[in-house]
Amino acid sequence: MNYDGDIIRPPSEADSIILQVTVGCSHNRCTFCGAYKDENKKFRIRTDEEIAENIAFAARYCTRQRKVFLADGDALILSQKRLVPLFARIRRELPQIRRISLYGNAKAIRSKTLEELRELKSLGLDRIYMGLESGDETILARIDKGETPASMISAGRKVAEAGIFLSVTVLLGLGGVELSRQHAEATGRVLTAMAPRQIAALTLMPLAGTPLGDAVENGSFQPPDPVAMLKELRRMLISINCDKVQFMANHASNYLPISGRLGRDKDAILAIIDRALDGGIALTPEAWRAL
Ligand code: SF4
Repeated sequence: MNYDGDIIRPPSEADSIILQVTVGCSHNRCTFCGAYKDENKKFRIRTDEEIAENIAFAARYCTRQRKVFLADGDALILSQKRLVPLFARIRRELPQIRRISLYGNAKAIRSKTLEELRELKSLGLDRIYMGLESGDETILARIDKGETPASMISAGRKVAEAGIFLSVTVLLGLGGVELSRQHAEATGRVLTAMAPRQIAALTLMPLAGTPLGDAVENGSFQPPDPVAMLKELRRMLISINCDKVQFMANHASNYLPISGRLGRDKDAILAIIDRALDGGIALTPEAWRAL
Protein backbone atom coordinates (compact mmCIF):
# COMPACT_ATOMS: atom_id res chain seq x y z
CA MET A 1 0.00 0.00 0.00
CA ASN A 2 1.52 3.38 -0.81
CA TYR A 3 0.70 6.61 0.99
CA ASP A 4 1.54 10.28 0.52
CA GLY A 5 2.88 11.41 3.92
CA ASP A 6 1.75 10.19 7.33
CA ILE A 7 -1.77 8.86 7.72
CA ILE A 8 -4.17 10.05 10.40
CA ARG A 9 -7.19 7.91 11.23
CA PRO A 10 -9.68 7.64 14.10
CA PRO A 11 -8.58 5.25 16.90
CA SER A 12 -11.53 2.97 16.15
CA GLU A 13 -10.19 2.37 12.63
CA ALA A 14 -6.97 0.78 13.91
CA ASP A 15 -7.80 -2.56 12.31
CA SER A 16 -9.16 -1.15 9.03
CA ILE A 17 -7.58 -1.15 5.61
CA ILE A 18 -6.56 2.49 5.16
CA LEU A 19 -7.12 3.51 1.58
CA GLN A 20 -5.85 7.01 0.82
CA VAL A 21 -8.16 8.58 -1.75
CA THR A 22 -7.34 12.23 -1.06
CA VAL A 23 -4.17 13.80 0.26
CA GLY A 24 -4.53 16.45 2.99
CA CYS A 25 -7.66 18.45 3.73
CA SER A 26 -9.55 20.69 1.31
CA HIS A 27 -10.20 23.22 4.11
CA ASN A 28 -6.84 23.12 5.91
CA ARG A 29 -7.45 26.42 7.74
CA CYS A 30 -8.45 25.44 11.29
CA THR A 31 -6.11 27.42 13.54
CA PHE A 32 -5.40 24.53 15.93
CA CYS A 33 -4.79 21.85 13.30
CA GLY A 34 -1.32 20.85 12.21
CA ALA A 35 -2.31 17.61 10.52
CA TYR A 36 -1.73 18.56 6.91
CA LYS A 37 0.74 21.43 6.88
CA ASP A 38 3.63 19.64 5.21
CA GLU A 39 4.44 20.33 1.58
CA ASN A 40 3.68 16.69 0.67
CA LYS A 41 0.21 17.07 2.21
CA LYS A 42 -1.09 19.79 -0.13
CA PHE A 43 -4.68 18.88 -0.93
CA ARG A 44 -5.22 16.74 -3.97
CA ILE A 45 -7.47 13.92 -5.04
CA ARG A 46 -5.45 10.82 -5.86
CA THR A 47 -5.76 9.53 -9.38
CA ASP A 48 -7.98 6.57 -10.26
CA GLU A 49 -4.81 4.63 -11.11
CA GLU A 50 -3.23 5.26 -7.69
CA ILE A 51 -6.42 4.22 -5.91
CA ALA A 52 -6.95 1.14 -8.10
CA GLU A 53 -3.37 0.03 -7.47
CA ASN A 54 -3.90 0.20 -3.70
CA ILE A 55 -7.23 -1.63 -3.84
CA ALA A 56 -5.49 -4.37 -5.84
CA PHE A 57 -2.77 -4.50 -3.15
CA ALA A 58 -5.43 -4.82 -0.43
CA ALA A 59 -7.22 -7.54 -2.40
CA ARG A 60 -4.01 -9.52 -2.34
CA TYR A 61 -2.61 -8.85 1.12
CA CYS A 62 -5.42 -7.61 3.39
CA THR A 63 -7.92 -10.42 2.99
CA ARG A 64 -8.61 -10.75 6.73
CA GLN A 65 -9.60 -7.14 7.34
CA ARG A 66 -13.32 -6.41 7.31
CA LYS A 67 -13.32 -2.60 7.31
CA VAL A 68 -12.01 0.13 5.02
CA PHE A 69 -11.23 3.68 6.10
CA LEU A 70 -10.92 6.24 3.31
CA ALA A 71 -8.19 8.78 4.17
CA ASP A 72 -7.16 11.66 4.33
CA GLY A 73 -8.90 14.62 5.94
CA ASP A 74 -12.23 14.77 4.15
CA ALA A 75 -12.61 12.01 1.57
CA LEU A 76 -16.32 12.81 1.33
CA ILE A 77 -15.37 15.93 -0.65
CA LEU A 78 -14.97 13.69 -3.71
CA SER A 79 -17.80 14.13 -6.17
CA GLN A 80 -20.57 11.55 -6.23
CA LYS A 81 -19.35 10.69 -9.74
CA ARG A 82 -16.02 9.57 -8.24
CA LEU A 83 -17.37 8.04 -5.03
CA VAL A 84 -19.97 5.69 -6.53
CA PRO A 85 -17.51 3.79 -8.79
CA LEU A 86 -14.95 3.81 -5.96
CA PHE A 87 -17.40 2.17 -3.54
CA ALA A 88 -18.45 -0.28 -6.27
CA ARG A 89 -14.81 -1.20 -6.88
CA ILE A 90 -14.21 -1.77 -3.16
CA ARG A 91 -17.26 -4.05 -2.99
CA ARG A 92 -16.19 -5.92 -6.08
CA GLU A 93 -12.49 -6.39 -5.30
CA LEU A 94 -12.71 -6.63 -1.51
CA PRO A 95 -15.86 -8.72 -1.00
CA GLN A 96 -15.02 -9.39 2.68
CA ILE A 97 -15.48 -5.69 3.56
CA ARG A 98 -18.43 -5.03 5.86
CA ARG A 99 -17.96 -1.37 6.62
CA ILE A 100 -16.56 1.73 4.89
CA SER A 101 -15.86 4.87 6.91
CA LEU A 102 -14.36 8.29 6.26
CA TYR A 103 -13.87 11.78 7.65
CA GLY A 104 -16.49 14.20 6.37
CA ASN A 105 -16.56 17.87 7.27
CA ALA A 106 -19.78 19.90 7.18
CA LYS A 107 -18.90 21.41 3.80
CA ALA A 108 -18.47 17.95 2.25
CA ILE A 109 -21.72 16.73 3.80
CA ARG A 110 -23.46 19.84 2.49
CA SER A 111 -22.16 19.08 -1.00
CA LYS A 112 -24.19 15.84 -1.02
CA THR A 113 -27.96 15.59 -1.28
CA LEU A 114 -29.78 13.32 1.14
CA GLU A 115 -30.37 10.90 -1.74
CA GLU A 116 -26.66 10.85 -2.56
CA LEU A 117 -25.78 10.06 1.06
CA ARG A 118 -28.39 7.29 1.03
CA GLU A 119 -26.88 5.95 -2.17
CA LEU A 120 -23.44 5.84 -0.52
CA LYS A 121 -24.98 4.14 2.50
CA SER A 122 -26.46 1.49 0.22
CA LEU A 123 -22.99 0.97 -1.27
CA GLY A 124 -21.40 0.40 2.15
CA LEU A 125 -20.72 3.82 3.70
CA ASP A 126 -21.39 2.98 7.30
CA ARG A 127 -19.78 5.74 9.33
CA ILE A 128 -18.83 9.42 8.98
CA TYR A 129 -16.41 11.03 11.44
CA MET A 130 -17.14 14.75 11.66
CA GLY A 131 -15.22 17.43 13.54
CA LEU A 132 -17.55 19.83 15.34
CA GLU A 133 -14.78 21.09 17.66
CA SER A 134 -17.07 23.65 19.31
CA GLY A 135 -20.74 24.49 19.25
CA ASP A 136 -20.06 28.14 19.97
CA GLU A 137 -20.38 30.61 17.12
CA THR A 138 -17.60 32.94 18.28
CA ILE A 139 -15.16 30.08 18.78
CA LEU A 140 -15.98 28.49 15.42
CA ALA A 141 -15.25 31.85 13.77
CA ARG A 142 -12.02 32.33 15.76
CA ILE A 143 -10.67 28.91 14.81
CA ASP A 144 -11.62 29.53 11.16
CA LYS A 145 -13.70 26.38 10.95
CA GLY A 146 -15.76 27.90 8.15
CA GLU A 147 -19.01 26.76 9.78
CA THR A 148 -21.66 27.97 12.21
CA PRO A 149 -23.53 26.01 14.88
CA ALA A 150 -26.57 25.93 12.56
CA SER A 151 -24.58 24.57 9.59
CA MET A 152 -23.02 21.91 11.83
CA ILE A 153 -26.41 20.83 13.15
CA SER A 154 -27.93 20.61 9.69
CA ALA A 155 -24.95 18.57 8.34
CA GLY A 156 -25.10 16.20 11.31
CA ARG A 157 -28.83 15.69 10.99
CA LYS A 158 -28.53 14.96 7.30
CA VAL A 159 -26.03 12.16 8.00
CA ALA A 160 -28.34 10.67 10.62
CA GLU A 161 -31.33 10.96 8.28
CA ALA A 162 -29.40 9.02 5.64
CA GLY A 163 -29.04 6.22 8.20
CA ILE A 164 -25.27 6.64 8.47
CA PHE A 165 -23.53 6.30 11.85
CA LEU A 166 -22.35 9.76 12.87
CA SER A 167 -19.31 10.16 15.11
CA VAL A 168 -18.60 13.73 16.24
CA THR A 169 -15.36 15.07 17.69
CA VAL A 170 -15.16 18.07 20.01
CA LEU A 171 -12.07 19.73 21.42
CA LEU A 172 -11.86 20.70 25.08
CA GLY A 173 -10.01 23.94 25.77
CA LEU A 174 -10.71 25.52 22.39
CA GLY A 175 -12.34 28.60 23.93
CA GLY A 176 -9.36 29.19 26.21
CA VAL A 177 -9.88 30.36 29.78
CA GLU A 178 -11.95 33.28 28.53
CA LEU A 179 -14.68 31.30 26.73
CA SER A 180 -14.49 27.99 28.59
CA ARG A 181 -18.03 28.12 30.00
CA GLN A 182 -19.64 29.19 26.75
CA HIS A 183 -17.64 26.57 24.82
CA ALA A 184 -18.85 23.81 27.14
CA GLU A 185 -22.50 24.83 27.21
CA ALA A 186 -22.87 25.67 23.51
CA THR A 187 -21.08 22.46 22.48
CA GLY A 188 -23.38 20.41 24.70
CA ARG A 189 -26.41 22.10 23.12
CA VAL A 190 -25.21 21.57 19.53
CA LEU A 191 -24.31 17.93 20.22
CA THR A 192 -27.80 17.42 21.62
CA ALA A 193 -29.31 18.89 18.44
CA MET A 194 -27.06 16.79 16.18
CA ALA A 195 -27.87 13.59 18.10
CA PRO A 196 -24.80 11.65 16.93
CA ARG A 197 -24.26 7.97 17.75
CA GLN A 198 -20.79 8.61 19.10
CA ILE A 199 -19.10 11.62 20.68
CA ALA A 200 -15.33 11.84 21.10
CA ALA A 201 -13.96 14.63 23.32
CA LEU A 202 -10.26 15.36 22.80
CA THR A 203 -8.24 17.89 24.77
CA LEU A 204 -6.39 20.76 23.11
CA MET A 205 -2.64 20.39 22.73
CA PRO A 206 -1.45 23.63 21.08
CA LEU A 207 0.95 22.85 18.25
CA ALA A 208 3.96 24.96 17.40
CA GLY A 209 3.68 26.50 13.97
CA THR A 210 -0.12 26.69 13.96
CA PRO A 211 -1.92 30.03 14.48
CA LEU A 212 -3.32 28.80 17.81
CA GLY A 213 0.10 27.53 18.91
CA ASP A 214 1.56 30.95 18.08
CA ALA A 215 -1.22 32.66 20.06
CA VAL A 216 -0.37 30.53 23.11
CA GLU A 217 3.29 31.36 22.61
CA ASN A 218 2.72 35.12 22.50
CA GLY A 219 0.23 35.05 25.35
CA SER A 220 -2.87 36.13 23.41
CA PHE A 221 -4.58 32.75 24.01
CA GLN A 222 -4.56 31.11 27.41
CA PRO A 223 -5.58 27.44 27.44
CA PRO A 224 -7.42 26.20 30.55
CA ASP A 225 -5.22 24.28 33.01
CA PRO A 226 -5.89 20.54 33.57
CA VAL A 227 -8.41 21.13 36.37
CA ALA A 228 -10.24 23.76 34.32
CA MET A 229 -10.29 21.35 31.35
CA LEU A 230 -11.97 18.79 33.57
CA LYS A 231 -14.51 21.31 34.80
CA GLU A 232 -15.20 22.21 31.17
CA LEU A 233 -15.75 18.54 30.35
CA ARG A 234 -18.13 18.26 33.32
CA ARG A 235 -20.11 21.29 32.19
CA MET A 236 -20.27 19.99 28.61
CA LEU A 237 -21.55 16.62 29.75
CA ILE A 238 -24.27 18.23 31.82
CA SER A 239 -25.36 20.19 28.74
CA ILE A 240 -25.60 17.08 26.54
CA ASN A 241 -29.05 15.55 26.49
CA CYS A 242 -28.71 12.60 24.16
CA ASP A 243 -29.75 9.02 24.50
CA LYS A 244 -27.97 5.88 23.30
CA VAL A 245 -24.75 7.73 22.47
CA GLN A 246 -21.32 6.32 23.04
CA PHE A 247 -19.27 9.01 24.82
CA MET A 248 -15.48 8.79 24.79
CA ALA A 249 -12.94 11.08 26.39
CA ASN A 250 -10.23 8.43 26.48
CA HIS A 251 -7.96 9.78 23.74
CA ALA A 252 -4.25 10.12 24.56
CA SER A 253 -4.70 13.90 24.78
CA ASN A 254 -7.20 13.67 27.66
CA TYR A 255 -6.23 14.24 31.29
CA LEU A 256 -8.78 11.72 32.58
CA PRO A 257 -9.67 8.71 30.42
CA ILE A 258 -13.41 8.12 30.60
CA SER A 259 -16.03 6.50 28.41
CA GLY A 260 -19.59 5.34 28.73
CA ARG A 261 -23.03 5.46 27.26
CA LEU A 262 -25.23 8.55 27.49
CA GLY A 263 -27.63 9.13 29.08
CA ARG A 264 -27.36 5.77 30.98
CA ASP A 265 -23.86 6.36 32.40
CA LYS A 266 -23.95 10.15 32.68
CA ASP A 267 -24.19 10.28 36.49
CA ALA A 268 -21.46 7.67 36.87
CA ILE A 269 -19.14 9.62 34.54
CA LEU A 270 -19.86 12.86 36.41
CA ALA A 271 -19.05 11.07 39.68
CA ILE A 272 -15.66 9.97 38.27
CA ILE A 273 -14.90 13.54 37.18
CA ASP A 274 -15.86 14.80 40.66
CA ARG A 275 -13.56 12.28 42.29
CA ALA A 276 -10.72 13.44 40.04
CA LEU A 277 -11.50 17.08 40.85
CA ASP A 278 -11.34 16.19 44.56
CA GLY A 279 -7.91 14.63 44.03
CA GLY A 280 -9.11 11.02 44.39
CA ILE A 281 -8.00 10.04 40.86
CA ALA A 282 -4.68 11.16 39.40
CA LEU A 283 -4.74 13.03 36.10
CA THR A 284 -2.58 11.95 33.18
CA PRO A 285 0.83 13.68 33.52
CA GLU A 286 1.51 16.29 30.86
CA ALA A 287 4.46 14.30 29.48
CA TRP A 288 2.24 11.29 28.78
CA ARG A 289 -0.29 13.18 26.72
CA ALA A 290 -0.17 12.82 22.95
CA LEU A 291 -2.16 13.57 19.83
S1 SF4 B 1 -11.23 20.40 8.69
FE1 SF4 B 1 -10.19 18.90 10.04
S2 SF4 B 1 -8.34 18.26 8.93
FE2 SF4 B 1 -9.11 20.12 7.93
S3 SF4 B 1 -7.97 21.79 8.90
FE3 SF4 B 1 -9.88 21.57 10.05
S4 SF4 B 1 -9.39 20.14 11.73
FE4 SF4 B 1 -7.71 19.97 10.21
